[in-house]
Amino acid sequence: MMSTVVQPGNVMNETNTSEALCRAKTRSGKPCKRIGNSKNGRCHLHGGKSTGPKTEEGRARIATAQFKHGNRSKAAIAAQRAKAARGRAIRTELATLEALAIQDGLLPSNWRDAYRI
Ligand SMILES: [Zn+2]
Repeated sequence: MMSTVVQPGNVMNETNTSEALCRAKTRSGKPCKRIGNSKNGRCHLHGGKSTGPKTEEGRARIATAQFKHGNRSKAAIAAQRAKAARGRAIRTELATLEALAIQDGLLPSNWRDAYRI
């Protein structure tokens, strides 16, 4: 007769529950099939035992370690938005100048056709 005792760490028993699965990706590239914990969504093999740094120094160290290039930082995004706004202002000014030049007869209204390929 087979034993019905549930062994801790038994993958088959853990996958049959309705709890959320671990959100980690395994080395084979497939998602982990274990149950994630409620604190960080990871099983004990994928960082589930760690609940993150607690001290301010530790949090700063982790933030520094996670920083890769800064292209998505608040400062970089603000700079990109400022450049985009400047570009829109320049294009608006050029459109106004073009309309004035066409209105004054300095440019033919179909001048762009000469530059189309
Ligand atoms: Zn996992």
